[in-house]
Amino acid sequence: MKSSQSSRKKVAVVGAGVSGLAAAYKLKSHGFDVTVLEADERAGGKLRSVSYKGLIWDEGANTMTESEPEVQCLLDDLGLRDKQQFPISQNKRYIVRNGVPVLLPTNPIALIKSNFLSAKSKFQIILEPFLWKKYDSSKVSDDGTDESVGGFFQRHFGKEVVDYLIDPIVAGTSAGDPDSLSMSHSFPELWNIEKRFGSILAGLVLSKFSTKKESGGVRNGTTEKRKPRRGSFSFQNGMQTLTDTLSKELGEDALKLRSEVLSLSYNAGKYASQNWSLIYSKDKNSKDLIADAVIMTAPVCSVREMKFMKGGIPFPLNFLPEVAYMPLSVMITTFRKESVKRPLEGFGVLVPSLEQQNGLRTLGTLFSSMMFPNRASNDEYLYTTFIGGSRNRELAKSSTDELKQIVTTDLRQLLGVEGEPTFVNHFYWSKAFPLYGRNYDSVVKAIETMEKNLPGFFYAGNHRDGLSVGKSIASGCKAADLVISYLESSTDQSCAE
Ligand code: FAD
Repeated sequence: MKSSQSSRKKVAVVGAGVSGLAAAYKLKSHGFDVTVLEADERAGGKLRSVSYKGLIWDEGANTMTESEPEVQCLLDDLGLRDKQQFPISQNKRYIVRNGVPVLLPTNPIALIKSNFLSAKSKFQIILEPFLWKKYDSSKVSDDGTDESVGGFFQRHFGKEVVDYLIDPIVAGTSAGDPDSLSMSHSFPELWNIEKRFGSILAGLVLSKFSTKKESGGVRNGTTEKRKPRRGSFSFQNGMQTLTDTLSKELGEDALKLRSEVLSLSYNAGKYASQNWSLIYSKDKNSKDLIADAVIMTAPVCSVREMKFMKGGIPFPLNFLPEVAYMPLSVMITTFRKESVKRPLEGFGVLVPSLEQQNGLRTLGTLFSSMMFPNRASNDEYLYTTFIGGSRNRELAKSSTDELKQIVTTDLRQLLGVEGEPTFVNHFYWSKAFPLYGRNYDSVVKAIETMEKNLPGFFYAGNHRDGLSVGKSIASGCKAADLVISYLESSTDQSCAE
């Protein structure tokens, strides 16, 4: 509920990616005076859509889901439902085996019936509730690193599942690899299912059953909840529609672009009132902003560069570890339809690392104009291909010409493209994704230390609560809720005296 006190409270949000904008929108709707400071000349962060000569493409995130309730609320509140675009045949996803794309079965039963995996792996899946192996905690290394994603899935389902399902999926969603990623940070839900139930398969069935029972109870009550549409989606003009709409709702005055935050000072007052001052460089001039609370959504690598002060003395961030980042090149190519001899309908194709031995060098390709026909003209296909990640960091940095050759060679093998693409666009992300490495706990703990020692400081975004767009939005909304209760409780205290 809006209060006259809260309407006077000022909140600074650092970063205008989707997490920062979602947080700012929630705070503004709640009556707070919000300012978003963004270093770049545009808002959106990793959501970046381009329309050019009848083509539409995304250079960052291509789709999102609405598994998180915060996403559902945001889409409803922003009136974006009629702009949502669901891909055609989105359940058709392909993984390369022996150099050719194979349709991925859509559920465990279809997987068992298919020839995608060997008989041995299929048995291992069927018998997982009885055969899964416990994590050998004596193997935990002295430096306290977590179990890897690869190790976890191998204990449950065997090596082939890791090589041909988990490896391409983690490369396609985080540009990482199963051996480097921490299981507890990359797949927290499955990690917790193992803790509760042991077996993943039994746990998934049982937890689905108990969720159904719980939601059945809600439905019989008064709060009828709309069921979200399953699957991935984008928006008519690409993913940036979401951040453009958020920016518009915030208004020009609340969003300061080309404003890189350089330092933050916390000057403890008795109440949470104007305790924060931020210095930022705007068009090469130094400016300051006073706030009652701060939501930080800039990447950890940027936060490490900022100067923090507390009560007039430096607050060194030497406890905040370095984070490794995955470099990635995104290549957009179009081909005339008659030049694609074996076009595939569906979402896209992922390439497991092992398939590099069959000459494939890309991580995967989205069939963008198959999914969303308005992304290209009727006589051409538009593809979005990813290169690099932890599998091949150096390749990500290659020139546009080299990458064009790599993409064309892979698409020739996978889809039978002939000749050269009719259009090429290259976008390079030096830090596309933070790597949720096996010591990522130390990053999360350091963020918590900052929050504990700096009253009114909250951290949100893809370095904390998950990499997906949906999780980044949920993280921003959660931080906004924490700011609301922090500022409202301090207002209550000062009123009580
Ligand atoms: P960011 O978008 O990184 O925003 C942080 C902002 O902080 C940036 O705008 C940055 O400029 C700003 N900033 C940094 N330093 C400062 C400073 N000192 N002062 C002020 N501002 C600063 N997710 C999906 O769900 N589906 C996908 O299909 C998908 N595909 C992806 C493809 C690619 C190529 C990439 C790169 C990501 C993809 N993701 C996908 C992941 C997802 O897009 C991101 O994790 C999410 O958008 C991150 O949002 P964020 O707000 O946390 O961070």
